[in-house]
Parts: sequence; C-alpha cells; structure tokens
Amino acid sequence: MADNHEETLFSKIIRKEIPADIVFEDDDCLCFRDIQPVAPVHVLLIPKRCIPRLADVDEADQPLLGKLMGKVPAITKLLGIEDAFRLVVNSGAGACQTVFHLHLHIIGGRSLGWPPG
Ligand code: AMP
Repeated sequence: MADNHEETLFSKIIRKEIPADIVFEDDDCLCFRDIQPVAPVHVLLIPKRCIPRLADVDEADQPLLGKLMGKVPAITKLLGIEDAFRLVVNSGAGACQTVFHLHLHIIGGRSLGWPPG
C-alpha cells in the first residue's frame, strides 16, 4: 500500500512533532502510551507506514502486520503484563476508530472481563 494516506496525529508522533510517552521504537513500528488509558497499562502499537484501517490491509501489508504482532510479546514483557493482556483493533468509525492510522491497543494491568463492552 502506498505511503500517501492522509496525515493523522500519529504521523506527527512518529516524526516527534507531537510529544508521546514512547515505550518502544524500531525501524518499522512505534509504541507509546495512550493519552486516555482505559487500564493501568494501555499502549498503542503502530506501524510507521500508515495503513488507515485493518480493513484496508492487503497482501503486501502482511509482513508488516506479522512484524507488528510479533513485537507484542517483548512489549508486554517490558511493561510487566505478559501474563494477562488484551489486544484491540477498532476498524472503522462504527467500531469507534477515531485515528485512521492502524493501531493495536495493548491493554493490561488489571483483570480484564469477558465479553468486552
Ligand atoms: P481508536 O479510537 O481505536 O482510533 O484509538 C485512538 C486512540 O488514540 C484513543 O485511545 C486515544 O485516547 C488515543 N490518542 C489520541 N491522541 C493521542 C495522543 N496525542 N497520544 C496518545 N494517544 C492518543
């Protein structure tokens, strides 16, 4: 997928134009604390290349998505939540996606009920 998607505030966080509490970064992805956490630990893991929604992912994006998911164990360990955490991806406005730059919510640090709200 091309890199010409509309800028979101996450692009500005990637470029360090907006401050964020970054917990992990490499060439492909960035992980930072959510500004409105829903749990004691709530971070967002994003690819640096903008894909607007999970629904927009195509075959060429799959290695990047695999890489993103593959970072989760190390990040949850770093944050001390490796034994109990939840991943959430909101895709589309109807699912409460508000920032159209694909992101994984990684949530933990409290007991997490099921089914989710
Ligand atoms: P979503 O609703 O799934 O699109 O998630 C977007 C998330 O981005 C929300 O949980 C917001 O609290 C979070 N958010 C918005 N602005 C910032 C920011 N400047 N720094 C960190 N997190 C943010």
